[in-house]
Amino acid sequence: MGELRKDYILDRYVIIATERAKRPHEFTSTSEKIIEKTCFFCPGSENLTPKEIMRIGKENWDIRVFPNKFAAVKAAGNPTVRTDNDFYTFSDAYGNHEVIVETPNHDKSLADLSIPQIADVFRVFKTRIEENLKDPQIRYVSVFKNHGKGAGTSIQHTHCQLVAYNILPEIIRQKEEKVKLHKDCPYCSVISRERDSLRRCFENDSFISFTPYASRFPFENWILPKRHILNLSQFEDKEFGSLAEIVKKVLMKLKELNADYNMCIQYGIENMHFHIEICPRLATWAGFELGTGTIINTMTPENAAEFYRI
Ligand SMILES: [Zn+2]
Ligand SMILES: [Zn+2]
Repeated sequence: MGELRKDYILDRYVIIATERAKRPHEFTSTSEKIIEKTCFFCPGSENLTPKEIMRIGKENWDIRVFPNKFAAVKAAGNPTVRTDNDFYTFSDAYGNHEVIVETPNHDKSLADLSIPQIADVFRVFKTRIEENLKDPQIRYVSVFKNHGKGAGTSIQHTHCQLVAYNILPEIIRQKEEKVKLHKDCPYCSVISRERDSLRRCFENDSFISFTPYASRFPFENWILPKRHILNLSQFEDKEFGSLAEIVKKVLMKLKELNADYNMCIQYGIENMHFHIEICPRLATWAGFELGTGTIINTMTPENAAEFYRI
């Protein structure tokens, strides 16, 4: 019999449909090969991207950041959100949309990079978030990765994106609201429970990874710092390496499944405990999910965690 489960803090439900359960390797990969003529992210094509924002490394760069050529938002126009005739709330699509290319090597994925390289990627996220927040019109900086076609990318060369914009995302607002209802940080409490649970995946001195109790995606994985910190600016330098070690472990396992995935950085504004959500895209949300907001997941998080641990 399946089980209806609620997210730790959000009013978000999933149905863990064990009757349809499959074994890990029965999840057929969604990953399709992307074919492109010229790669604009490769060394030698630097002049084909918009003007570089920053790089790690000198002539032969290791990480490169530049504006997205097809930006969803731009730092122009009027960022004030206003309402006309009761129902028409709008502003100009204000903000910055950046691309972060994590390696000059066209054939490597984030999982393939060394731990120090992955740590540097997170240091770049920190710098770019801090820089974007200097604009008082920016309310939040979303950093994410779309890996593979099934996760929404059309470019093979590994990269992350950053969208800094003029509203607080609803999902972050809800998490902040829910955290306020608890006396102590609920994420800290969840960590102390999950580290002894069947859902625990990896742990080191500073971070823990587990499959969340109400996983929305097969093999969904969350990574949290064990100490209560809200954002990358509060990281100690060595913690970037500890985070990179866990991220690499999770991504190497997903590579075994050849799974497309999204990785979303969730940082707190007032109270919310920093976390990273890694969401493999091995299933398609359909009418039930769209019509109800309740998500059917055919992989139990307990079995998914076992796959990560072996
Ligand atoms: Zn390339
Ligand atoms: Zn906490």
